Amino acid sequence: MSKIQVLPQAIADKIAAGEVAERPSAVVKELVENSIDAGADRITVEIKNGGVKYIRVEDNGKGIPGDELEFAFLRHATSKLREIEDLYTLRTMGFRGEALASICAVSDVEVITKTEEAEEGTYMTLKHGVPSDKECIACNKGTTMIVENLFANIPARMKFLKKDSTESGYVSDVLERIALSNPEIAFRLISDGKEQFSTMGDGQLKNTILNIYGIECAKGILEVNHTEHGVSVTGVVGKPELARGNRARQTLIVNGRYIKNHVVSKVVEEAFKNTMMVGRFPFFVLNIDLSPELVDVNVHPAKTEIKFANEKEIYEIVHRAVKNALYSRENTVPKAEKEPERKEEYVFDRKEPTNQRFSFNLNTKPASGGFTPVEQPQKPNPGLVREFLQNTIPVRAEEKTVDSQYVLHDSLFDAEDKKEAPVSESEKTESEQMFDSNVLEEIKIAGQVFDTYVIIEHGDEMFMIDQHAAHERKRFEKLKEDYKNRAICGQLLLAPIVLDVDSVEIQVVRDHAETFKNMGFAIDEFGARSVIIRETPLIADDDEIKDTVLEIISILRDGRPSSLLDFEERALDMIACKYAIKAHKKLSMIEMEAVVKDVYELETQGITTCPHGRPIKISFTKKSIEKLFGRIV
Ligand code: ADP
Ligand code: MG
Repeated sequence: MSKIQVLPQAIADKIAAGEVAERPSAVVKELVENSIDAGADRITVEIKNGGVKYIRVEDNGKGIPGDELEFAFLRHATSKLREIEDLYTLRTMGFRGEALASICAVSDVEVITKTEEAEEGTYMTLKHGVPSDKECIACNKGTTMIVENLFANIPARMKFLKKDSTESGYVSDVLERIALSNPEIAFRLISDGKEQFSTMGDGQLKNTILNIYGIECAKGILEVNHTEHGVSVTGVVGKPELARGNRARQTLIVNGRYIKNHVVSKVVEEAFKNTMMVGRFPFFVLNIDLSPELVDVNVHPAKTEIKFANEKEIYEIVHRAVKNALYSRENTVPKAEKEPERKEEYVFDRKEPTNQRFSFNLNTKPASGGFTPVEQPQKPNPGLVREFLQNTIPVRAEEKTVDSQYVLHDSLFDAEDKKEAPVSESEKTESEQMFDSNVLEEIKIAGQVFDTYVIIEHGDEMFMIDQHAAHERKRFEKLKEDYKNRAICGQLLLAPIVLDVDSVEIQVVRDHAETFKNMGFAIDEFGARSVIIRETPLIADDDEIKDTVLEIISILRDGRPSSLLDFEERALDMIACKYAIKAHKKLSMIEMEAVVKDVYELETQGITTCPHGRPIKISFTKKSIEKLFGRIV
């Protein structure tokens, strides 16, 4: 073992820098927080190459006296904390006096600053933490910090940085959160010479939201304003229609500091219960203000996590605050759409003979629960698909279309037929031929239960098929194949869809233009804060198309392959899933047959699960059923 040694200061500083300044966005955060602490009401951030090459933060705050300037860059040099007790009552952003020391240890820094009283400003440069140049300069009150060549002296850290565009996205995200936390400050972000966003700084959170998320979002927000036991919860929550498939648009601010707290997110989501679908997350910007003694901000080096002293009480207050906003008279939010109850149907009538209760009734409409009557003849009708194909699809008897069951599906679910070139029997895949000639003849379709599962009988087995899982998987396999062959065709939308996005999302669209194109989307930038969708691979309503694009963006933004599927596959699955027939949809006999056909075709390829690994089909043997009824032991 080597001898224990106290690390030279320069190395210790570099290690500490890793904690505070892990990437450009963290540097921007620290510098901007210093500007806020200095009382600035106008802060401009400029970055180049995602901030790796260049970061400039300019403010109109109180400035640093020239003779103290070197001290600002020393570790534990702070003007904000004098006594250890101060730690518990602080309302400033910084307090540990570490940020500037950490940042300048891993970069080249230039600073220009002037206080109100000083006649001249001061200009100073530091190279890897060592002041190298200092002179007087004429300038306005305030401070400009320029950080260049971040991590150039630590190649190991450089490796952890992502693409410039990704880093630039992180910077936008951080600055947007800070802007949302400080509506009274005007912020501006410039990246590679282009303005990313700017806020007015008029003190109105609603306007800040408008500047950052666009008009659609600003129109859909509800005000939160609630004080209880000295804890105030203010800000906005979005109406359910602003919900997204991830939590990127949730901003929590505690005593002016943007933080992450999973429990608070959950509490807010709980307040939204019954108003949105599972897997959707509400929009919010919430400020919790409480006595600083009740919060410990010093639990995380970047100060992005906090601990509340009396958590449970605070969570309850947040919950009440959001509920009040949602259900206040002005803001009444409709409950999630529920199927209206059809009283006249399926009410057990005591006078009715029992044997009629469970019989299929062609004249009644489906109700949830129980067997769903089908409009087609009840008697299982083997070979119906064949008959249907021969009679309904306009192709010659011996010829069927490419992937005929897709024509079948698409025509059934999309209301519009697709015209594809006919192919001869010999061009069909082996599995298609086998399927056509054998299996379907032997299958009896018994019906559908819970509007979700198709029940079939095949030999000595009964199967329940998950209609959504089956169709999603079939669709997914087809999309994958087409994606590989660059053969996914987008459908031109008659009315293009404009989608409001944030700066990170627009960057993802830019970076993955090719991927979107190959997936059948035509998407272009449309102003600084929105994109326009002109073509899509799926036929769905506008909201669903928007959702799909947003979800694909969030998958691509992650960029991390999941254990099961790589991220392109996840995006394709997203399309497949949105396109596939849903659970809770009543199917006609013809539709059920198409589903069954999918299942058996997938099986011939050895596929028995949906893309997420859930089974498509579950078997019940005749024997096991007979056992249940005590017919056999
Ligand atoms: P902390 O913010 O924890 O005090 P920093 O290392 O971030 O530590 O900053 C050190 C000191 O430098 C601050 O306490 C403050 O006095 C001064 N300082 C840094 N940035 C600015 C700025 N933009 N305007 C005025 N003073 C600043
Ligand atoms: Mg600081």
